[in-house]
Amino acid sequence: MKIRFVNPQRTYKNLKKELDAAYFSVMEKGAFIAQSELAQFEQQLADFVGTHYAVGVSSGYDALYLSLIAAQIGVGDEVIVPAHTFVATTSAVVRVGAKPVLVDVRDDFNIDPECVEKAITKKTKAIIPVHLNGRMAEMNPIINIAQKNKIIVIEDACQSLGATYYGKPAGSIGLTGCWSFYPFKMLGGYGDGGAITTNNKKIADAIRLLRFNGEDRNTGEYHYHGCSSLLDNMQAAFLNIKIKYLPEWIEKRRSIAARYHKGLQGISGLVLPHFPEKEFDDVFQNYVVRSQYGNTFSDYLKLHGIEVLTQFRKPYYTHQGLRLYTKNFPVTDTLSKEVCSLPLYPELKVKEVDYIVQTISTFYQNIKA
Ligand SMILES: *Cc1c(COP(=O)(O)O)cnc(C)c1O
Repeated sequence: MKIRFVNPQRTYKNLKKELDAAYFSVMEKGAFIAQSELAQFEQQLADFVGTHYAVGVSSGYDALYLSLIAAQIGVGDEVIVPAHTFVATTSAVVRVGAKPVLVDVRDDFNIDPECVEKAITKKTKAIIPVHLNGRMAEMNPIINIAQKNKIIVIEDACQSLGATYYGKPAGSIGLTGCWSFYPFKMLGGYGDGGAITTNNKKIADAIRLLRFNGEDRNTGEYHYHGCSSLLDNMQAAFLNIKIKYLPEWIEKRRSIAARYHKGLQGISGLVLPHFPEKEFDDVFQNYVVRSQYGNTFSDYLKLHGIEVLTQFRKPYYTHQGLRLYTKNFPVTDTLSKEVCSLPLYPELKVKEVDYIVQTISTFYQNIKA
């Protein structure tokens, strides 16, 4: 059996009629830049997340970058970010000229609020908690720390559309929530795409101008040195269709995660991404298991036709080209050696899940024998 890590062809097959119709409609209208499809998608996203505003931009990275610019964070400022995340979280901070201050995560892969508290200095202007793998970071203590120190919180919610914490949706708590519609995210377009959500009108207005080279299209006045970072109208047309399926897809993701859990929970030594706390409702953007056997484990799965993701094996802060510092983050260092993301998407078949479970069981039986 061959099981892909993601399978956009299956999604396309299921939605072909609607997606093709959207494509032809946009082509026939010649509607490529900031047309009704974009406005509609922004409304749908704001409704889904439960914020007043959503502003489409061209990637998750730009959502983070423009949030920092709109919040006037730059040279001389410090921004606290997790040591375990996708590199974009930290690169956005570097790009605005601020200093990223990395802190360790907890066993659920998300930023440790105690480490955040210890990292605060007079220069700290923001915290960027990342809701990794479909599970939200522990937001209450983070918001408390932010309020006490009068600093802002920007949520990197790129992996957690639909997740909640004490019933509060990801992307609705911080000054902004940052979203990515990279093809392999839970809500993926057919190219790069992103958005910010916010309840703050000033921030929404600023990002609307910034993404359009600072120009107010109604008056022609330039208000900022911005950039070109619109969410394509064509992508918005596709996302308008896909977002309607999102609640159903999230349920499927949860049921696949439950099947993995049931099948794998008896294997001693394999750590599963199931955390008992009731205040978190996860959406399983990824299903990340931890094996002490590291590459031996992930290579075995690949050898047996199962595409798995191990991009976190080398923590981003150890990549020399990024010129971050070489410090030790004990939890991040340990889990980087062990993590392995299994395939998980709504179109994954039960027999495929069962094959993956069986292959993992066999690996553990062999290695213990
Ligand atoms: C995908 C992702 C991003 C960046 O999104 P792009 O749209 O690829 O720029 C940022 N942070 C996290 C946690 C992500 O998963």
